[in-house]
Amino acid sequence: MNTQILEQMESEVRTYSRSFPTVFTKAQNAYLFTEDGKRYIDFLAGAGVLNYGHNHPVLKKALIDYISSDGIIHGLDMWTAAKRDFLEALDEVILKPRGLDYKVHFPGPTGTNAIEAAIRLARKISGRHNIVSFTNGFHGVTMGALATTGNAKFRDAAGLPAQGAQFVPFDGYMGEGIDTVAYLDKLLKDSSSGLDRPAAVLVETVQGEGGINPASIEWLQRLDALCREHKILLIIDDIQAGCGRTGKFFSFEHANIVPDMVCNSKSLSASGVPFAMVLMRPELDQWKPSQYNGTFRGHALAFVTGAAALRHFWSDDKFERDILRKGRIVEERFQKIAAKARENGFEAHEKGRGLMRGIDVRSGELADAITSRCFEQGLIIETSGHSGQVVKCLCPLTIRDEDLLEALDIIEENAAAVLK
Ligand SMILES: *Cc1c(COP(=O)(O)O)cnc(C)c1O
Repeated sequence: MNTQILEQMESEVRTYSRSFPTVFTKAQNAYLFTEDGKRYIDFLAGAGVLNYGHNHPVLKKALIDYISSDGIIHGLDMWTAAKRDFLEALDEVILKPRGLDYKVHFPGPTGTNAIEAAIRLARKISGRHNIVSFTNGFHGVTMGALATTGNAKFRDAAGLPAQGAQFVPFDGYMGEGIDTVAYLDKLLKDSSSGLDRPAAVLVETVQGEGGINPASIEWLQRLDALCREHKILLIIDDIQAGCGRTGKFFSFEHANIVPDMVCNSKSLSASGVPFAMVLMRPELDQWKPSQYNGTFRGHALAFVTGAAALRHFWSDDKFERDILRKGRIVEERFQKIAAKARENGFEAHEKGRGLMRGIDVRSGELADAITSRCFEQGLIIETSGHSGQVVKCLCPLTIRDEDLLEALDIIEENAAAVLK
């Protein structure tokens, strides 16, 4: 396979092509195919962009029909029929049935754009600058979002101090039995704690890049109550955990809370086209016309496939139930793999929610050894966490059971070979 120009010209900053150094040409649901015809099962799925798999027939047809009809591809943020249809689908299929009345801001098309827009709005509304975020949180790498991202790998490359956020331990960070919401409560109540009164609290319900760390339902509910009590906006970063990944469309539905703002991106277009939105309680929409702009705000192709996916997958609870069923299959198998590793003297445990799952093997080298071997056997799978110590499952939610089981067999075999 010819990789010469790729190796020569592309910046050293590249990431995933290092783990999977081959050239991909085609993809279908949970399969990726290389130029020389090798088939891989995709357990990475664009880091959570492809929740509905690659080239889903319903979405592909919607896209082809739209392009064939000379539909508007780009219209800045002008009104288009595609935008109207997306908002109708969002309201009818997702928001209304959940009793939500959010307004929608389409910022630039990436996750970090949504975070920037949300925290800027929170600052504008409150007149305060500080954002509380959490250890191991990942919210993107543009300057504002970076300040709320924990990992020093990204922060150290900023070139400027990453300012505007203060970190509090996430659920479980201090070990079992230490209540980090109580800690935040104490900091907020004590004018001498050193915590600048925040504009907002920004949190992932299940930390993705930080190592597949699910906050407990109770912790999320108490964090929500704390924000209400202290009149601080609660922003949920649902960029990776949203769009069904945890078994509900919004990950915070498990906790029955209604955040003040929600950031979505990754799987929102459903087809891999970049797309992001910020949902906000209506009274928070204090933007002045064109006060926050961008050339690519809401992409028509993303509206088309995004709307088609909402209607196809979320009109009843069939898809939800199927995600939870598959999630349990992965959970059980990962628990078994971790238990076997512990028998062999390794500290390993399973964690996650829905189909966002991982096996923490406490060592980036071990996790890497497992995923590299999996790649050789036809499985694309990545690690996450501060040192890459978690082998993670982010397979398409639409994966066929046969493929899911084949992939789990590959992981089990290679985990057993490494953790022996
Ligand atoms: C991926 C991700 C982001 C950043 O999205 P980009 O599109 O890479 O800017 C932010 N938050 C979470 C939780 C993510 O997983």
